[in-house]
Amino acid sequence: MAQIIDGTAVAEKVRAEVKDRVAALGARGVVPGLAVVLVGEHPPSVLYVRKKAEMAKALGMHSVVHHLSEDISEDEVIALVERLNADPRVHGVLVQLPLPGHIDGRTVIDRVSPLKDVDGLHPVNIGWLQAGRPALLACTPQGVMRLLREYEVPVLGRHAVVLGRSAIVGRPMSWMLLRSHATVTTCHRHTVDPAAHARTADILISAVGRPGLVTADWVKPGAVVIDVGINRTAEGKVVGDVDFAAVSEKAALITPVPRGVGPMTVAMLLSNTCLAAERALDRAVSP
Ligand code: NAP
Repeated sequence: MAQIIDGTAVAEKVRAEVKDRVAALGARGVVPGLAVVLVGEHPPSVLYVRKKAEMAKALGMHSVVHHLSEDISEDEVIALVERLNADPRVHGVLVQLPLPGHIDGRTVIDRVSPLKDVDGLHPVNIGWLQAGRPALLACTPQGVMRLLREYEVPVLGRHAVVLGRSAIVGRPMSWMLLRSHATVTTCHRHTVDPAAHARTADILISAVGRPGLVTADWVKPGAVVIDVGINRTAEGKVVGDVDFAAVSEKAALITPVPRGVGPMTVAMLLSNTCLAAERALDRAVSP
């Protein structure tokens, strides 16, 4: 029977570390600041943004939400992003996705300063990640790496299979694992027989968004299974991509949904905001 990875407990630990870092920055005269840009009334986005802002405040950060109306123009959103780039009280700028159809998310993200891009989505941060240089890393895959570290999962030399290659989870996940010296296979919708790849994984990570995709016959006995998926069933229940009950019988370690990867994402966002503030201060001290 697999050991269950407790994402809530690890996220709590990360937040406690962030609180200490906020205090250390405070002693040097800096309050780390997070600005979130939210456009429209997409209900899950409104909820996520509220959660992010409340947690940032609870840890002693300066936290502002710019809630813009659905019909705002792309140019106006970009103008706001540029004001935030220039604001010294703001160390992290997050543009909540998805944006309404008339605004191109990529164009807007490209205008966030890479030094304040706490979502790790700017092409410069993606390039730095791939080049093995210090970058602001995408929050969810960074959270997965932290879970692997907390549970002392060996990554070096192991075969990691990532299901999914989105810009926000799958691709940065594969790059982070590669940077930690795993041998990485990335599967996507055109992969012939993803189950055959999955069965060879020491670490199997699913970031697809399809409930029940990963069944027990996709999993090697003793594998570590990380479920990034968040799906709502017809009955309103939140489930991942993995058949948790059956896979738990075979895996050595497994994340549940909820209380697995989910809580790590916001914790890593707050950690990134602190990191951006720490780096800004270091640049100011020794430019
Ligand atoms: P996405 O943009 O829809 O990407 C899904 C990926 O899965 C795509 O790369 C797609 O391939 C691939 N795919 C589709 N069918 C597949 C199959 N049969 N085998 C292997 N790969 C397949 O979704 P996302 O934003 O990455 O999110 C993925 C899931 O994670 C969702 O359930 C989302 O809600 C969840 N999520 C959770 C968190 C968290 O905090 N825990 C954060 C973000 C997302 P193509 O590229 O070929 O289309």
